[in-house]
Amino acid sequence: MSVAWSPEQSDLDWTLKQLNALGVDEVWSTGEMQYKRTGVKELSLLTRTERAGEAHARLLTVLSELGWSCDDSGAAITPDDPMEQMLHAQREAQDWACPSEDCDTRLVDCGLEKARWVSHGLQLAVNPNTGDETEAERWLVHLRCVDCAEDIRMNPLDYALIAGDDLFHTYTTATHVYHTLSREALIALVDAGEGDTGTALGSRDLDGDLLPPHLQGTFCLISDRLESEEE
Ligand SMILES: [Zn+2]
Repeated sequence: MSVAWSPEQSDLDWTLKQLNALGVDEVWSTGEMQYKRTGVKELSLLTRTERAGEAHARLLTVLSELGWSCDDSGAAITPDDPMEQMLHAQREAQDWACPSEDCDTRLVDCGLEKARWVSHGLQLAVNPNTGDETEAERWLVHLRCVDCAEDIRMNPLDYALIAGDDLFHTYTTATHVYHTLSREALIALVDAGEGDTGTALGSRDLDGDLLPPHLQGTFCLISDRLESEEE
């Protein structure tokens, strides 16, 4: 058994500064841990990776010296490996339920293939390369709950998690179905001499409507939408 770790004054000062900047109900991400402030001197651990166990234990020590408490009983522990983490997140997403009260229908049962991509206009965003503020089109994925008819809105990353690759890369408009090709599929298509069956996409679809960002700049196979598929 090693000697118990004890924090330096600088650890206490640094942590206190972070805590003071945190509003109630706000989330604090530090290292591979995420905490939510739940009260005047209360935190709750939301998630941490497996390997962040010791870092979390040290923070508990710091918190107790500062007179704060932390509830970690409901924390989600995620795998260390990014690939594993993705699979874990995809599995968790399969259990997501309709957000409306008294409805526990799972989103995967709500006809994910019928989800609609809707632009909510320009919103302030931060350019990840320069850190500059910029404007970016905000897109949400709308899904209708099959039981309570709630209009469920998801951010695109959440939809990608729950829908899986095939569905995420299939985009259906009133007239066409667009299927974006992976690099491998594109190479195979061109090698087979069928490169001209696909279409390179800019910012708009064949009807002149704006495409969601993950379709822009991709190479697609486009098919006519069958009348019978329409709602
Ligand atoms: Zn519902």
